[in-house]
Amino acid sequence: MAKIELQINGKAVSADTTPDLMKGMVIRDMEAQLHAKLQNIICPEHQEEPSVIVNITHNRQIISVGACCKQLTDMTMAALKQQ
Ligand SMILES: [Zn+2]
Repeated sequence: MAKIELQINGKAVSADTTPDLMKGMVIRDMEAQLHAKLQNIICPEHQEEPSVIVNITHNRQIISVGACCKQLTDMTMAALKQQ
């Protein structure tokens, strides 16, 4: 399973530790969507899975991908861009 971290304004957040119930639901929903998009993404060469950081700052999404090679980075970005 790909490793996914959500950040809001540079701070890591997770649905389980967010006291705000509405925000927690939004985070859980985003995590589920990201996991669904990335569930089959595995590097064909190294059998590694990507780690993804989605940082939401001022309503802009900045996505950082950690991967074993450029091929997996490209696969991960392409999967994330799918609706
Ligand atoms: Zn690789």
